[in-house]
Amino acid sequence: MPELPEVETARRGLAPHLEGRRVAAVVLRRPDLRWPIPPEVARLLPGQRIAAVRRRAKYLLLDTDAGSALLHLGMSGSLRVLPADTPVGAHDHVDLALEDTRVLRFNDPRRFGCLLWQAPGDVHPLLRELGPEPFDDAFDADYLFALSRGRKAPVKTFLMDQRVVVGVGNIYVAEALFAAGVSPLRAAGRVSRERYARLCAEIRRILQYAIARGGTTLRDFLSPDGAPGYFEQELAAYGRGGEPCPRCGRPLKHAMLGQRATVWCGHCQR
Ligand SMILES: [Zn+2]
Repeated sequence: MPELPEVETARRGLAPHLEGRRVAAVVLRRPDLRWPIPPEVARLLPGQRIAAVRRRAKYLLLDTDAGSALLHLGMSGSLRVLPADTPVGAHDHVDLALEDTRVLRFNDPRRFGCLLWQAPGDVHPLLRELGPEPFDDAFDADYLFALSRGRKAPVKTFLMDQRVVVGVGNIYVAEALFAAGVSPLRAAGRVSRERYARLCAEIRRILQYAIARGGTTLRDFLSPDGAPGYFEQELAAYGRGGEPCPRCGRPLKHAMLGQRATVWCGHCQR
C-alpha cells in the first residue's frame, strides 16, 4: 500500500508536469472507484488551471479556482503523465487531459483509491478529522505529551491514529519506536515528554529518509518470495521478528497489536 513517502514522492514527481497547466477534458471510464466520482469532477474541472499539487496525509489535491480534485491511491493506484495517444490499458479508469496534449492517467486495479471533490474554502469530510502532518511545527513533544495524558492505549496504536498524526504507518512507527528505545506496548500516557521529543525526531528522520529514497515502495520492490525488497536490510525492527536485535543481539520479539504485526526488542525498548 502506498504510504506517506510514496505519496509525497508521487506529488513531487507530478507537480512540475501539472502545476500551471489547464485541464482540457475529463474522461471517466467508470462512474466510481472506491466511492462514486462526484459530478463536479467532470462538470467543473475542464477549463481550469491547476494552481498547485498538494498532499494532505495520503491524499493528493489538485487545486483550481473551481475547487480541488481529491485523489487517494488506495492499495494499488498509480498516477502517470503520458502522451495523450498512449493506448488505454486495463484499469486505466480516469484521464485528465491536459492542454499540452498529455494526460494524467489514474490506474487502479483493486479500486480502493478514490477521486472526490473539495469545494473552494471547504475541507472535505475525509480530511476534517486528521491530525497534523509529521513535518508541521504543530507536531512536537508538547503536543504528543499533552494529547496522550491519561491514555492507556499502547503508544504504537496512539502514533498510528490518523487523528493524532497522519502518515505514520506500521513500518515507520516500528522503526521510530526502535530508534527511540520506546516499547510499542507502553501506554501512551506513560511516555515522558523527553521520549516524545525523541519519537518526534525519529519519525521525521525516518520519513525524510524514505521520501529521499522515493518511499520504501514495498509494492514495487517485492522480492519473489513477497518480502520487502532493497529497503529490508535498512529496517532495524520491522519484519525482523525472531532475528537478533541490531543493538544488543537478543532475539526481537513479535506479536500482533491491534491486528498489526509488531516487532520490538524487549531489552532495548522500554
Ligand atoms: Zn536490543
